[in-house]
Amino acid sequence: MLEQSNELSAWDRDHFFHPSTHMGTHARGESPARIMAGGEGVTVWDNTGKKSIDAFAGLYCVNVGYGRQKIADAIASQAKNLAYYHAYVGHGTEASITLAKMIIDRAPKGMSRVYFGLSGSDANETNIKLIWYYNNVLGRPEKKKIISRWRGYHGSGVMTGSLTGLELFHNAFDLPRAPIMHTEAPYYFRRADRSMSEEQFSQYCADKLEEMILAEGPDTVAAFIGEPILGTGGIVPPPAGYWQKIQAVLNKYDVLLVADEVVTGFGRLGTMFGSDHYGIKPDLITIAKGLTSAYAPLSGVIVSDKVWQVLVKGSDKLGSLGHGWTYSAHPICVAAGVANLELIDEMDLVKNAGETGAYFRAELVKAVGGHKHVGEVRGDGMLAAVEFVKDRDDRVFFDASLKVGPQIATALAANGVIGRAMPQGDILGFAPPLCLTREEADTIVAKTADAVKSVLASV
Ligand code: PLP
Repeated sequence: MLEQSNELSAWDRDHFFHPSTHMGTHARGESPARIMAGGEGVTVWDNTGKKSIDAFAGLYCVNVGYGRQKIADAIASQAKNLAYYHAYVGHGTEASITLAKMIIDRAPKGMSRVYFGLSGSDANETNIKLIWYYNNVLGRPEKKKIISRWRGYHGSGVMTGSLTGLELFHNAFDLPRAPIMHTEAPYYFRRADRSMSEEQFSQYCADKLEEMILAEGPDTVAAFIGEPILGTGGIVPPPAGYWQKIQAVLNKYDVLLVADEVVTGFGRLGTMFGSDHYGIKPDLITIAKGLTSAYAPLSGVIVSDKVWQVLVKGSDKLGSLGHGWTYSAHPICVAAGVANLELIDEMDLVKNAGETGAYFRAELVKAVGGHKHVGEVRGDGMLAAVEFVKDRDDRVFFDASLKVGPQIATALAANGVIGRAMPQGDILGFAPPLCLTREEADTIVAKTADAVKSVLASV
């Protein structure tokens, strides 16, 4: 076993090009690498047998937890009966049609159709094309710019990496590309003017957005995209009144709203969708991750009736939609989606995400909230983050080169709990599977407190 494992590790360093990985240190064997082997509930283990609580649900995607037989059976049965057929020119399967219906039944009001893709990135790529097509059909060829937010995360393709507002995803890739622009991040803890209340800061964000729209010309601005709660940019809930004020500006200038619910869709905030949670009325919704709990790759764009009516006019005028992938609505993936949404209901996971998530955050506050280097403990539903600062009274941040956040995440992982060091700040993020129990939450909290105390004692 050990020999086999050494051989695998060598092949890994020599041949596997990992996403989001330091290429040099991995290839030279200088950074930790792990070969994962199994999972059950919130626990995963590697090929040495070491177990961890996965308090980030993979990449906030394994919402129902690992090892669910029902989804595995649905995948196996679909693979046997019909592993593949395309969805072009009106083709479907029982699972693709059923899943579209199940999604619309759960979606916010006013939604009409579901377009299926494979990743959050490609779904947002679809959104961009639909937004441009929509304005061309309406005879507004100039209305094409899309405004995103600094610290937003919407994927890592050419256009979706441009929508993303994080340096790591732009640097040396010649991104962002036009016509994508970025406005203020709704990050109250990091606001420049600390005298502002949350409502005042929300108004400031809305004013900044309006200034940008007016400077560019409202006839050139097509859409605004945002996650209901900032995810990869720091797990930051919106400040009070934020979405109401942003939507007032968008409505004033006839700008479409895309809610990127790749993380928040299907229960993570204790509601089926984040849009319902925060009173957002989107024109397009991006979904992925929780749609199948990542048992198979599947994403989607939920299209509102307002946008759909224009798209239909478009194909009456221009012919069939020139957009689609070989694997759109892949039968195995949609079968996993149907079983997954059924399981979310059967296990009452949306309710548990709200209740156990609130308990988890409250316990985190008790355990580390008072530490002199903890600036903020925040989150919503089954999402939480702890932000570390050098000086909490004056809100002075640590020098990035100290890597305080990553050090704490590493210490935590060594102790059997996987959290995530979020980029651009010393922020430890948590997004456990929605099936988390209070006992499991207690273990995560206790081990986090240990890691926080031990690392911060020496910085
Ligand atoms: N949108 C959001 C909000 C995300 O968090 C992510 C991934 O984390 C994406 C889009 C991109 O999804 P994918 O990695 O499946 O392309």
